[in-house]
Amino acid sequence: MECFQHEGRPAVGACRSCLKGLCRECATELDGGLACSPKCERMVGIIVSSLEQGARYQHVSAGILRSTPGLWSGLAVVALFVGIVVAALGLSFSAYRSIALLALPFLALAFLSGRLARSTAGGPSPADAAREPVS
Ligand SMILES: [Zn+2]
Ligand SMILES: [Zn+2]
Repeated sequence: MECFQHEGRPAVGACRSCLKGLCRECATELDGGLACSPKCERMVGIIVSSLEQGARYQHVSAGILRSTPGLWSGLAVVALFVGIVVAALGLSFSAYRSIALLALPFLALAFLSGRLARSTAGGPSPADAAREPVS
């Protein structure tokens, strides 16, 4: 790759925004990478900050997932209920007995989310997650 402005000069990197090759002279070094122009500097700033935002949201949602055993036990109850209703329906009509088999995935889901609820119950409470410093 060579510089997009200076033919023959090797590029030291690419603009983070427009991906053009840049030589040492053309490149402006920023926190998140290189930029070719003031316009691209702004774009790189936006790209870097949105990446940081994304990482922050991921951190928060992971925290929510860890700290909501209530969510899983709620899902377990709903899945168990649906499973029982489907099984009862299937078993009460001999012609539709195979429908009862459809209850099995729901019962399995109820079992799994019940286990998840128990394993997450020991984790940090929502209050603890909120106090966690966001880096
Ligand atoms: Zn650029
Ligand atoms: Zn150049």
